[in-house]
Amino acid sequence: MTRRLISVAAAALLCSAPGFAQDFSNVEIETVDVAEDLYMLVGQGGNIGLSTGEDGAFIVDTQFAPLTDKIRAAVSAAGGGDVQFVVNTHYHGDHTGGNVNFGGAGATIMAHDNVQARLSTEQVSVLDGQTTPPAPAAAIPVITYPARITFHWNGDTVNLIHLPNAHTDGDTVVHFTNLNAFHMGDTFFNGTFPFIDVGAAGSLEGIIAAAEEVLRRSNAATRIIPGHGPLATPEDLRTYLDVLTTVRGRLQTLIDQGRTEDEVVAANPTSEYDATWGAGFMNAETFTRFAYQSMTR
Ligand SMILES: [Zn+2]
Repeated sequence: MTRRLISVAAAALLCSAPGFAQDFSNVEIETVDVAEDLYMLVGQGGNIGLSTGEDGAFIVDTQFAPLTDKIRAAVSAAGGGDVQFVVNTHYHGDHTGGNVNFGGAGATIMAHDNVQARLSTEQVSVLDGQTTPPAPAAAIPVITYPARITFHWNGDTVNLIHLPNAHTDGDTVVHFTNLNAFHMGDTFFNGTFPFIDVGAAGSLEGIIAAAEEVLRRSNAATRIIPGHGPLATPEDLRTYLDVLTTVRGRLQTLIDQGRTEDEVVAANPTSEYDATWGAGFMNAETFTRFAYQSMTR
């Protein structure tokens, strides 16, 4: 199948190609309380999870390299010192761009096997066809896992759980079990359509499965850091899941009728969600095309 490249105005948000002029000087890092000694750092790019405590600082994702000093200041302000461990939820540059600085300063970077593989090789974006060269050595994970790993840190038991073929082929959901909190990476866009990276074997089916898995491990008090969007409750995740399963059902009906991708887009299976859920990084058409592609390959 020839994959259509889609130009998205907001693609710059996910772009990490060297030489891409993006001004970070006005970005401020906001620190949101999630649980005791657990925070969400919001700047530009994917939300960061921060665990502080007697063992030291541990972060989930690193946003963009030019933001590292601001992120370090936010870590210090929250009571953390040098960042000792980094987990990457997936390979995208708005979640791994700062790896080179944290890794270079001695942090140990961990991720799913496929994140290490993708950061080590040239990648081509399904959004705009732009290529990203291999990351520098300091940015590449040194501890990787095929399915899951458990991390004992700051009094918590932290499960890093790979959920296959969701946003990408290397997604990790981080479960802070004692604190009853998650970081879902980009398997969860809170309040907007998710980006399904079909160029990296992402799928709508996998994103739905990720949401179901986290809901199974949640109760009403659980707090969830999404890859993008505000801190979430299980109710927010349930709403997201409902939207995605509704759209999947409509797409499957159209696919079963033999409709082409353009015919499916013309049928507008997301219509009542477009004004709100289509106002984020993914507009309705792009989301529908990627969802369709992931269901028909
Ligand atoms: Zn992403």
